[in-house]
Amino acid sequence: MTAKTDRAAWLKGGTAECSVEPAAPDRPYRLVLLGAPGVGKGTQAELLSRNLGACQLSTGDVFRAAKSSDACERSPKLNEAIEFMRRGALVPDETVLGIVRERARCLRCRGGFLLDGFPRTVAQAEALSELLRQERVDLDAVLSYELPIERIISRLGGRRTCEKCKAVFHVESIPPKKEGVCDHCGGQLIQREDDRPESIRVRMEAYERSTRPLADYYAAQGLLRTVSAEGSPEAIFQRSLEALNR
Ligand code: AMP
Repeated sequence: MTAKTDRAAWLKGGTAECSVEPAAPDRPYRLVLLGAPGVGKGTQAELLSRNLGACQLSTGDVFRAAKSSDACERSPKLNEAIEFMRRGALVPDETVLGIVRERARCLRCRGGFLLDGFPRTVAQAEALSELLRQERVDLDAVLSYELPIERIISRLGGRRTCEKCKAVFHVESIPPKKEGVCDHCGGQLIQREDDRPESIRVRMEAYERSTRPLADYYAAQGLLRTVSAEGSPEAIFQRSLEALNR
């Protein structure tokens, strides 16, 4: 297991540096994780990150970090992005790509990377290919997590996140010891604004329309590995490792 970095370079952008440099593994992995909201992609990204040493680069985390920062420090584009996120809609490609381009050095992270929640449209995937070419790095694989839609809706509706440490629970499958309280830090558990029923519907529609076509895009490049997202996080993680060794 590798120590988790604080991901400051990714979350803050600009000249921010990570306080913990990732170790350079013998084999740095450079992966894209695909899957509908609620398949457990974020949890797998964390497990893979801890085990492979690769840095979790989540665009959703960048927007959430911006949302909890001082409103006066945010650019108009970022404020606009937060509004899209609140509704469960996709943030426009131009804004997302601006954010990723500003953080392009993270693609050269010596520990490797796991792109989580990006790309989400074919236009983003094409822009990513160009960025990777410029940074002279190649993708190793694209892991696509698959789960039937009814299971996804139940997972999202019951998901609760710690306000402080961001640990994720589920009211039925991973309940906290004390209702509404984080087991790890005692913080308050909240429902993400975009996990509310009206936002879930918008997010699923956006996924079907814009993100699902990415599976074909990466299959055509021979990079796609599908992974069933049924079962416990550990079982899915084992399947992810098997998919990488396939
Ligand atoms: P996530 O945590 O990946 O589910 O992202 C949360 C929200 O952030 C999404 O519902 C979108 O509103 C926004 N978002 C994150 N990544 C992207 C992206 N690559 N393209 C468009 N919107 C995004």
